[in-house]
Amino acid sequence: AKQSGRNDYRFFTPEMQTHSDRVMRLDSALRKALAREEFHLMYQPQIEIATGRIIGAETLLRWQHPDLGQISPAEFIPIAEDNGQILPIGEWVLKTAARQTRQWLQDRDHAFLIAVNLSAIQFRQPNLPQRVLEILHETGLPPEHLELELTERIAMDDPVTAIEIISTLRKQGVRLSIDDFGTGYSSLSLLKRFQVYKLKIDQSFVRDMTEDPEDRAIVHTIITMAHSLGLTTIAEGVENAEQLALLQEMGCEESQGYFTGRPMSADSFGELLQAQFGA
Ligand code: C2E
Ligand code: CA
Ligand code: CA
Ligand code: CA
Repeated sequence: AKQSGRNDYRFFTPEMQTHSDRVMRLDSALRKALAREEFHLMYQPQIEIATGRIIGAETLLRWQHPDLGQISPAEFIPIAEDNGQILPIGEWVLKTAARQTRQWLQDRDHAFLIAVNLSAIQFRQPNLPQRVLEILHETGLPPEHLELELTERIAMDDPVTAIEIISTLRKQGVRLSIDDFGTGYSSLSLLKRFQVYKLKIDQSFVRDMTEDPEDRAIVHTIITMAHSLGLTTIAEGVENAEQLALLQEMGCEESQGYFTGRPMSADSFGELLQAQFGA
């Protein structure tokens, strides 16, 4: 308990009691969730705007708790980071997505990238590049088909380490992209030293860009800056045709959002891919 004064007694409200009860419950449930097979993955299409073709998918983790129902990753990932479970869970995500992608590709040489989110805790593991390569080897997915997403915050938090890890993975053929771009504090010079190939424009800017001139200016600036560094851009949270048209006009290459494809099961995504790749 905090010792700093009387006010602390009033600080702890019944709502917080309920909140901390839930966190404790999720914390203990998370430790068993992998063994109980309560996780599954959804895949959200990433589209090349000029052609409408699927060029990749982002892997999104889902947790179905037997009593509490579906729990958002925004809620449980921070808890899994605190209790360390994010490491085995993160490896499971990578392994499952890699195995699934290999099955979709069937050893054919399609241009397709499977994107997997990396947590700050995973990123700080000194053996991360080695584990990634081991998992790729185990699942048989060529490294050229994997893309790891690192948020701008994580990358900028420790840029020296980020530069080194990104470069190690890059040499093995694995690509890195910067997630939630625009919400952190990137410097141009650092961005240039990161050997990333893609910026993911944060959905908070895309959401209002058709009405809000400032958000539109931010999106435009990110695209221009990315291109000047030789990077590709993908807009997240694209929900309507108007946003997509504006993005295309600004030179954004790719789209990920409800308008161009919702997160879907592996089976549904496989059918979409099958239709595009042909028999
Ligand atoms: P994120 O990486 O920024 O993922 C994009 C989020 O936006 C996903 O939420 C996705 O379902 C949602 N989204 C996609 N299109 C649209 C749209 O058009 N409109 C709106 N409003 N939302 C859209 P989700 O699946 O709830 O994931 C939330 C966050 O949880 C992710 O944000 C990511 O930070 C984290 N996360 C998800 N899966 C994993 C994972 O396997 N590992 C780690 N470390 N984090 C994960
Ligand atoms: Ca992401
Ligand atoms: Ca994002
Ligand atoms: Ca705004």
